[in-house]
Amino acid sequence: MIDPIVAKIESLKRERNAVLLVHNYQMGEVQDIADHLGDSLGLSQVAARTDADVIVFCGVYFMAETAAILNPEKKVLLPDRYAGCPLADMITVEQLCEMKEKHPDAVVVCYVNSSAEIKAESDYCCTSANAEAVVNSIDSGRDIIFVPDKYLGGYTAGQTGRELILWQGYCPTHARISPKAIERLKQEHPAALVMAHPECPPSVLKIADEVLSTSGMCRVAAESDAVEFIVATEVGMLHRLKKENPLKEFYPAARNAVCKNMKMINLEKILWSLEDMAPEITVPAEIREQALTAIQRMVDIH
Ligand code: SF4
Repeated sequence: MIDPIVAKIESLKRERNAVLLVHNYQMGEVQDIADHLGDSLGLSQVAARTDADVIVFCGVYFMAETAAILNPEKKVLLPDRYAGCPLADMITVEQLCEMKEKHPDAVVVCYVNSSAEIKAESDYCCTSANAEAVVNSIDSGRDIIFVPDKYLGGYTAGQTGRELILWQGYCPTHARISPKAIERLKQEHPAALVMAHPECPPSVLKIADEVLSTSGMCRVAAESDAVEFIVATEVGMLHRLKKENPLKEFYPAARNAVCKNMKMINLEKILWSLEDMAPEITVPAEIREQALTAIQRMVDIH
């Protein structure tokens, strides 16, 4: 029997012509009712082309803000407006402007995990799925400032052979993942393939078999001959991996790699959000216009 809350959500979605975009780190009950489940890049691409009137974004604040920038004429709802991202909060516009003053000729690339104001001060935006392609698309003679994630930035620098000027931010959830724990798991499951997200510290990336965005993890889990995987990213990812590959085994590299912000949205909050058409996320026109070029490049380059 269909859960009565889910039934109400479905009915309100039809009434409002709403689409439910859900990030891979959300709770299982939220992932299970997604119209589109994905990573920041995939969900931004869906947000850019949807013909729904309302986007209910089950993720964190910067994701809903990005959808609002891409869709000024649509209503973008974030079922809990306090679902933030500590990584995004690690840099202020003033700090970025100071960096730009120190390196006046540099191109600025910001990871999508950043505020709309930071995106407005950036030339390019990227996700973990296309950071390499974005950096490679920039003239090799130009200096590049990369904010705010030093780990994704460091990894991208290694992959592209470019020297990036890094801001020292990091994701506190991925920082909990240690190489020691992975080595221990490897002893228990020697045939397991280690998949790590580039937000992990370099010591983790060094021992990973594959460094992948969450969409990349889904692809590799489905295509690989391996039947066991050690997954070094936020634990919400395991719900989707297991659901899509029921005959394979997935082990979290760190059980405490839980992003509390990603777990703030539940079915009740989605229902209330559709009932009240709130909380709505909006971006001031001036910031939106300035941020749009960087975001559009992110959506287009892959
Ligand atoms: Fe931000 Fe890390 Fe949570 Fe992602 S997992 S929303 S980067 S704190």
